[in-house]
Amino acid sequence: MAYKQRRQRRKIIRRPKDCFFCKQRLVPDYKEIDTLNHFVSDRGKIIGRMQSGICQKHQKILVKSIKRARHLSLLPFIVRPS
Ligand SMILES: [Zn+2]
Repeated sequence: MAYKQRRQRRKIIRRPKDCFFCKQRLVPDYKEIDTLNHFVSDRGKIIGRMQSGICQKHQKILVKSIKRARHLSLLPFIVRPS
């Protein structure tokens, strides 16, 4: 019962294709922290494709470059609210 209700509540919102990287003709790069910061939440989590509207191709590259930037300590892994 509860499962059914949850399924009904979920709506699929179709967004028009508005990929930031396709528009700007850019490729996500781990050195460009300012652009990567747009796709990271204030807690330091990577924002999903459904929210940010990035295409699959660029989201895959973006996730890898964010993780690479984290490893090089250019981006934080987690941000704890103080
Ligand atoms: Zn794209």
